[in-house]
Amino acid sequence: MPELPEVETVRRGLAPALEGRRFEHVEITDPRLTRPHDPLEVALELEGERVTKVDRRGKYLIVRFESGRALLIHLRMTGSLRHAKAEDHGLEQLPADPHRHAVVTLDDGSDVAYRDVRRFGTWLLLEPSDVDTYIDTRVGKEPLEAAYKAKHLAEKLATRRAPIKAAILDQRTVAGVGNIYADEALWRAQVHPLTPANELTADEVKAVHKGIRASLQAGVRRQGSTLRDYQLPDGSSGSAQDRFKVYGRGGLPCERCGTPIDKIRVAGRGTWYCPNCQAYRDAGAGSTKRGQRRYAASNSSKRPSRSRRQSSV
Ligand code: ZN
Repeated sequence: MPELPEVETVRRGLAPALEGRRFEHVEITDPRLTRPHDPLEVALELEGERVTKVDRRGKYLIVRFESGRALLIHLRMTGSLRHAKAEDHGLEQLPADPHRHAVVTLDDGSDVAYRDVRRFGTWLLLEPSDVDTYIDTRVGKEPLEAAYKAKHLAEKLATRRAPIKAAILDQRTVAGVGNIYADEALWRAQVHPLTPANELTADEVKAVHKGIRASLQAGVRRQGSTLRDYQLPDGSSGSAQDRFKVYGRGGLPCERCGTPIDKIRVAGRGTWYCPNCQAYRDAGAGSTKRGQRRYAASNSSKRPSRSRRQSSV
């Protein structure tokens, strides 16, 4: 699913096309996209709105309007946006697509098409007074902002007994980290993904903070990772997947030490790590055992739905 680097890349691609433009015509054909709101009503509300800014918070794309309202787009698993320029005859240049569920025609004659194979994506139109509250209760600090320091991460982790990977997947801990960049960050930090979050040393928290920023920055630089459906608004692909350190690299040698990358499950998610560079830290007798018990608990049938919900916001 698209994570911070992918959504940021989409934002950068769409901003020049959308900013200053008015939504002339809006067609939403999938009721799942706007539920519980009626797609026709939402489409009508959007018509006439002028875009002032295309923003991002975590994995949310935020289209801000002159009226103060905002359209929050979450791509979830397989959502993607495509801009078709007017001089290229807008949507006519694109092949017919059974997975296209919304089209916005802008006042310059260009189109923005929303495609979603799995149909988990959402479009939510928020009134001016609701925008900040909605986002701030669901999304933690932005990790790539200069003001984001290790102490902010430390505060969030101090009370969490969950494995560090589960903790950083929770969007309230830090914004925008998903399954891919969590693994990449922990490899960079040399921290075992099952280490209980509140047992990390101050140095380890600093390393995780640095690892999160470095892995997300690497993703943004390569315009995100295209594994399946993710595309840039001009239809091109990202290339971050070519430089992953651990994600999806089971059995391949760790570039730091040569040990084959291993795959386990943490909080119900496939997790890749280097068993040598990211050895489970033995903080005292029984600590490994305790970690394993927590790992087992996080995979029990009672808990995964909670961690999935948290991680997908
Ligand atoms: Zn290694």
